[in-house]
Amino acid sequence: MARRVSIFGATGSVGQNTIDLIARDRESYDIIALTGGANVEQLAADARRLGAQVAVTAFEDRLGELRDALAGSGVEAAAGETALLEAADRPADWVMSAIVGAAGLAPGIHTLRHGGILALANKESLVTAGPLLTAEARAHGATILPVDSEHSGVFQALTGERIEDVERVIITASGGAFRDWPLEALEHATPDQASNHPNWDMGQRITIDSASMFNKSMELIETKEFFGIAPDRIEVLIHPESLVHALVGFRDGALMAHVGPPDMRHAIGYALHWPERRALPVERLDLAQIGQLTFAAPDETRWPALRLAREVMATGGLAGTAFTAAKERALDAFIERRIGFSAMARVVEETLARLSSASGLGSDTITLDNVARMDHLARITADEIIAQAG
Ligand code: NAD
Ligand code: MG
Repeated sequence: MARRVSIFGATGSVGQNTIDLIARDRESYDIIALTGGANVEQLAADARRLGAQVAVTAFEDRLGELRDALAGSGVEAAAGETALLEAADRPADWVMSAIVGAAGLAPGIHTLRHGGILALANKESLVTAGPLLTAEARAHGATILPVDSEHSGVFQALTGERIEDVERVIITASGGAFRDWPLEALEHATPDQASNHPNWDMGQRITIDSASMFNKSMELIETKEFFGIAPDRIEVLIHPESLVHALVGFRDGALMAHVGPPDMRHAIGYALHWPERRALPVERLDLAQIGQLTFAAPDETRWPALRLAREVMATGGLAGTAFTAAKERALDAFIERRIGFSAMARVVEETLARLSSASGLGSDTITLDNVARMDHLARITADEIIAQAG
C-alpha cells in the first residue's frame, strides 16, 4: 500500500530535496498535501506532477494565482494559516515539517495529533516549544524524527544504545560564511555576504543564521529538547569541512561519529525510510582523497548567539519562544538592511533581558496559547529595540 505523505514547506530547500527523493519512487507514495509560500508556480508544478490532494500557499492573496495554476489538474487549492492547519489535520503516515521559522510549529502540532511520523526539519518548533511537541507526540502515539543533519547523526549514533550511557553529545559547525573574518569586520557584513554558505546549499534564512551561529545556537537547544540531554553535556565543535555532522560520547570513552557528505537528502532519506536503510542518491565519501579533517574549539564569546542559547536553556519555560521570535525579527531587520549583522545578537539579548523582568519568562507553563502570547510580546519588544537601534 502506498504511504500517505505530506510536505510542509515543499517549495523550500529541504522541501525540494524531499520531493527529489519521493519523485524517484513515485508509486510508493500517495501525496496528500504540499504547502509553500510565494513561489506558487513551483508549488503548483510539483502538486500536478505528484498528483497531490491539496496544495496550500501560506499567503491568502496568492489563492487566485494558485487556483489558475492548478486549473483542470484535480488538485485542490487553498491558502492561509487556517488552510495550512486543515492540511495538517488530513491523516498521513509521514509528514515533512520544512516550513522555515516559528510558523512551522502549529502545523507540526496538528500533524502529531493524527499519529504517524513527523520528520522535523523545522528546528524552530523545538526551540520555541519543545516540551509541547514531545507531549503531543506522546499523547497521540506519533513519532518525531530529526532531519537536521547533526541531529539525524546523533539519532543514528544512538541506535541500539541506552541514553543513560551517553556522556556527551557534540554537534559540529562549519563556522558559516564568516568563519575567517576578524570580529571587528562582522559589524559591516552585508546580507549578500552572509547568504553564501561555504559547504551547504540551503534557504537564505538558515544560511544567514549559520554565519551568525544562531543556527548552531538553535541546534544546541534542539539537542536538549530532542534527546533530553543536559545542556552541560552538549558541545559545539568547529569543523570547516562539514563532513562529520555529530559525535556521541559514551561512558566508556567511545565516540561514535556520523560522517557523510553535506547533502540533506541523506538525513531526509534516513527519516523517510526509518527504521530501514535504503539506497540513497548521495555522494560516497572518499576519505583517502579528502586526506584530513580539522576541528577547533569555538570561541563562545566571539559568538554571542551560542552564549545566548546557553542562557535560554538555563532559563527554560518560554525563553526559547522569546529567543526564536526576537531572532526572527532581528533577521528580518538585517535582511532589510535596517540593522547591521552584529546587531542581531544584541537585539535578541536585549529582548530577553527586558522580558525576563517583565513577564516571568522561565516560569510559565508551555501551552500553545502561552507560546503565542510570548511570541507576540517578544516580536513587539524586538521591534522596539530595532527601531531604537536603527
Ligand atoms: P527555505 O527558505 O528554503 O524554505 C522555507 C519553506 O517555508 C518554503 O516552502 C516557504 O514557502 C515556506 N514558508 C516561509 N514562510 C512561511 C510561513 N510564514 N508560513 C508557511 N510557510 C512558509 O528554508 P529551508 O532552508 O528549506 O529550511 C526549512 C527548515 O528546515 C528551517 O527550519 C531550517 O532551519 C531547517 N533546516 C534546513 C536545512 C537546509 O539544508 N536547508 C538543514 C537543516 C535544517
Ligand atoms: Mg544543522
